Formats: sequence, C-alpha cells, structure tokens
Amino acid sequence: YIDFLASHDPLTELPNRRKFTEKLKASILNEKSGAVILMDLDNFKGINDTLGHVYGDKVLSAIASRLKSISSEDSFVSRFGGDEFLILVENRFTHEEIELFLQKMKNLFKEKLHVDGNNIDIRFSMGISLFPKDSTEVNKLIMNADLALYDIKNSGKNDYNFFDESMMDKVIKNSEIESLMRDAIDNDGFKMLYQPLVNLRTGSIYGYEALVRIIDNNILPSEFIPVSEENGMIVTIGRIVLHKVIEQVSKWKNSGIDIKPVAINFSAAQIHDYDFLNFLDSELKEFHIEPKYIEFEITENIFIENKERTIEFLDNLKKRGIRIAIDDFGTGYSSLNYLTFLPIDKIKLDQSLNDKFLCEESSKVVDGIIYLAHNLNLEVVAEGIETEEQLDKLCAGKCDYIQGYYFSKPMEVEAVEENINKKYLERAYEY
Ligand code: C2E
Ligand code: CA
Ligand code: CA
Repeated sequence: YIDFLASHDPLTELPNRRKFTEKLKASILNEKSGAVILMDLDNFKGINDTLGHVYGDKVLSAIASRLKSISSEDSFVSRFGGDEFLILVENRFTHEEIELFLQKMKNLFKEKLHVDGNNIDIRFSMGISLFPKDSTEVNKLIMNADLALYDIKNSGKNDYNFFDESMMDKVIKNSEIESLMRDAIDNDGFKMLYQPLVNLRTGSIYGYEALVRIIDNNILPSEFIPVSEENGMIVTIGRIVLHKVIEQVSKWKNSGIDIKPVAINFSAAQIHDYDFLNFLDSELKEFHIEPKYIEFEITENIFIENKERTIEFLDNLKKRGIRIAIDDFGTGYSSLNYLTFLPIDKIKLDQSLNDKFLCEESSKVVDGIIYLAHNLNLEVVAEGIETEEQLDKLCAGKCDYIQGYYFSKPMEVEAVEENINKKYLERAYEY
C-alpha cells in the first residue's frame, strides 16, 4: 500500500509524476520512440469556482477514469498535478500516428461527463513533444510539451500543438524584452512621444496621442507592449505613462502654453489594476489638471473578459469628464452593437482599414462608417494617414480628425512645443 501511495495520486488513483518520469526514462533507455502529451483542462477553474472544490475533485476523478480506458500496453496515463495530465505514448513514429491517438483522446470527451446529476462539457488543450526527435531528456521533453501547450493556450485553446524550436526562441526573446522593461521601470527609462490629431474643421491641432518609448532603445511598443500585457508589467507601465503625461501637460500649462487634450492608450490587461482610478484622481489633483485634458483609448478586446467591470470603469471615467475612444476600429469583431450602449465619444479608424478602403475608386465603406458614427453622436479619427489622396477622401466623407505621417510622426516634447499652433491645413472644412 505504501508503495502504491508513493507512485500514485490518491485522488484519481492514476500513476503520479514520479512514476511517469521513471516510465519515460525506461522508454528512452530502451531506444523506443513516441510522444509526451501534456493535457490541460480549459474550463476547470470555472467548474471549481462555480461548483466548489469538492465537486471539482469529483470531476477530476471522472476524467481520470475515462482516460484510464485508453491506457494500454503502449500508452501510459498519469496525473501531473492540478488539472494537468501527462500521457506517454510509445511505438509511434510519425505525426500522423500520434494524431490518430490524439483524436482518440478527443473522442473520449465527445460525450459530456455526468457528475452528481450535472452534465459537464470537458474542453482541454494538449502540448506534445516527441522523443527521441525533440530530446532524450525527461525534463526537457516535459518542458517542451509545456511550451507547446502554452502556445496553443495563447492562440485559442481546445486544440493540440506539437513543440518546435521557435517556441523556445520566443521564450528567450520574451525574457530579454522582460528584463529590458524591468530595467526601464527601475531606472526611469521610459519617455513619451506625442502625435498630433489634426482637426479638419480648423486645420489646426485638436490634441495628441501619447505613445510610449524606451529611452535609447529602438524596440517598438508593438514588440514590448504585448509582452508586458502577458506578464502583467503593463499595470506598472500604464501608471508610469499616465504619470508622465499628466506631469507633461502640467509643465506645458505652467509655461503658458495653450494646452490640448492628450490621449493615453489603456490596455485591456490594465483592467486588473483595481486601484487605477484612485491613482488617476490623485495625479490629476497633484498636478492641477482638469480631467478634460486627458482622454483614453481602449480596444474592443477589453470587453472579452469582464464586460460589467469594464463598463463600470468606463462610466467612472465619463463621470469625471474624461473622453473615451475606441481604438483600432475595424480590426476586431467591430460589433456595431456596443457603439450604441458604451459611454464613448470617438472611434479611431485603424490604419489597415484606411489602407484597404481609401485607395480604391470609391471610399463607400469608410464614408458609411463615418456616417453611422455621426448618427450615433460619435466623432471619427482616421489613423495612419500617409497620403493626400487618403486625406481628400476622408474630407469628402466628413471625417473629424486625421492622425498620421502625412501631417506628423510622433514628436518629442520640444517639437510639440514648436508646432503647437501650426496650421496643418490651409483650407478648413465647413461641415
Ligand atoms: P496604436 O494605439 O494604434 O498607435 C498608433 C500607432 O501607429 C503608433 O505606433 C504610431 O506611431 C503609428 N502611426 C501613426 N501614424 C502612422 C502612419 O501614418 N503610418 C504608419 N505606418 N504608422 C503610423 P507605435 O507608437 O509604434 O505604437 C504601437 C502600438 O503600441 C500602439 O498602437 C498601441 O497599441 C501600443 N502603445 C503605444 N504606446 C502605448 C502606451 O503608452 N500604453 C499602451 N497600453 N499601449 C501603447
Ligand atoms: Ca492608440
Ligand atoms: Ca490605433
């Protein structure tokens, strides 16, 4: 019995991680080939949170007994821990042979699981590494399967994925970026650039979008912002950005410059910064800046996780008199529905949309979106505008603001000060 306990998981009575390791070691020593499959449930946290841990345990046991049914001479099922299972498959050589096995696993859970009168839909993802192809070291094989799993989880779940070397490269690259950001956080290594939005009715600057950079480094935010969103650093970076912008606006104000609104990008992951609004209030107060000078840009993906909380957050911004724009409009699902109930003021037409629809004979799509937005009392900013032709079409469609290299790249603070009253358009549009 003691022997059994040492090599098995008491809850599911499946072999444990130690036993799996022994088994894999032996398999490699005997020069067999096969696969290590790491299986992870996609929806277990939800089950645990809504139905309780005791129930969660029963679900795990029920899953284990289904998995046991595919244990055979050349496949070995074990519990890795939590809601993860490790499966060893031997004597299979090609991707196709292994995929047949993976299909068998998927079929196992086609039918819902019956636990205590509930029918539970089980969804899971799998990461796979092959031996001896990917490695002949036990730990490395498990780690590689984990990397492949991580990859599939990030790109949609409920599927499987084979390990490949590029996944390791990505992890190394990400950890380099991470330490670069850590450094910038610790040593005041961020700065902001400001790109003007030109008001087509006046031909002058309406306001700016603040865009973060790492000082003395050419790495672009499109590289480091996604990494910081994944590892949570965006919460700290987001506060640094907010502080820098408000401080800058107050410097302009104190030196007698006619200040204009500055828009800040707010990442979906920052919704986890529960104290953000208090921070915002204290910054505005400390620097004596009216909320109308700060605007927020959000993207649609902020609604994916927690719609209620997001709407509450946006309402709170609105209450303070802060204006909100939907960024990158036209790239995601662009559900027109949410435009009708969200407390937003503007939409920003994404560059890709403008590139696609403003070079053709007609610009009906963009005209139509602008028309629709105006009917919903929303203003429209067109982003990434580089040519006069695009500008002309947007003017014809009665767009409100233009942002893009045609007028200006994002500028350093000094350039902002030099150009703040510049007329970017000779003719102003009356509409
Ligand atoms: P975004 O919010 O869509 O910002 C617009 C991007 O388009 C900026 O790139 C800007 O430099 C670029 N751009 C503007 N006009 C043109 C043009 O005419 N042609 C071309 N080719 N590009 C143009 P940037 O500064 O590299 O920022 C990339 C993204 O990184 C931003 O996309 C935003 O999502 C994110 N980001 C930048 N700063 C911050 C920040 O402070 N916080 C957060 N959360 N995200 C940020
Ligand atoms: Ca933006
Ligand atoms: Ca954008």
